[in-house]
Amino acid sequence: MVALTDGADRSPFSGVRGPSSTNGNNNYHYKNQYLEQPRPVRIIVIGAGLSGIAAVKIFKERFAGEPVELVIYEKNNDVAGTWLENRYPGCSCDVPAHAYTFSWEGNPLWSRAYVGAVELFEYFKGRAVAYGVDEFVRLQHRVVGCDWDDQQGKWFVKVEDLSSETTFVDSTEVVINACGFLK
Ligand SMILES: Cc1cc2nc3c(=O)[nH]c(=O)nc-3n(C[C@H](O)[C@H](O)[C@H](O)COP(=O)(O)OP(=O)(O)OC[C@H]3O[C@@H](n4cnc5c(N)ncnc54)[C@H](O)[C@@H]3O)c2cc1C
Repeated sequence: MVALTDGADRSPFSGVRGPSSTNGNNNYHYKNQYLEQPRPVRIIVIGAGLSGIAAVKIFKERFAGEPVELVIYEKNNDVAGTWLENRYPGCSCDVPAHAYTFSWEGNPLWSRAYVGAVELFEYFKGRAVAYGVDEFVRLQHRVVGCDWDDQQGKWFVKVEDLSSETTFVDSTEVVINACGFLK
């Protein structure tokens, strides 16, 4: 425990988050927080394809009850990326479908070995619904820029709202690029 000489409440239980404090002669600085006190953190995921859907499941398992916020920006009007966009004749996965599921959740119901795009879309869309992706995703939002600010220790992410044709900037500690190859 640090011995206080100025009577200030810097108890680790005060819940105060503020600028760092000094001992009065600037010899050292310390933060008004206890060791390993969690701070709020935001995560922005770009894209709600397969990786973005998986991010929600992992996020819920890893950060339940933590002060961590997740937002996914997706340019399309639905999830599942590759399997939403590709519909050309014969479009299918090129590895056997049992090897093309999330590793934690296979699908015993595939209709054949090299499954078509619609069936793949339905599987991944179904997983998105099961994991509650809706709660986190903002559809029709295209990320058009991303800058790191060293002073603030944050990413500033420029987002185009395709439905209203407006642009805004969001900030975050963590960016996950889940864009795949679909621009
Ligand atoms: C016909 C075909 C067959 C394939 N077969 C296989 C296979 O058998 N095995 C295999 O491993 N892989 C296969 N792939 C590759 C497939 O793309 C990946 O397996 C998978 O889609 C990667 O998932 P992802 O989430 O990384 O990317 P995607 O599924 O591509 O999703 C990316 C998402 O990001 C969104 N996005 C992109 N840019 C932005 C932006 N700037 N702002 C907001 N959102 C954005 C997109 O709209 C999309 O929803 C195949 C691809 C195709 C086209």
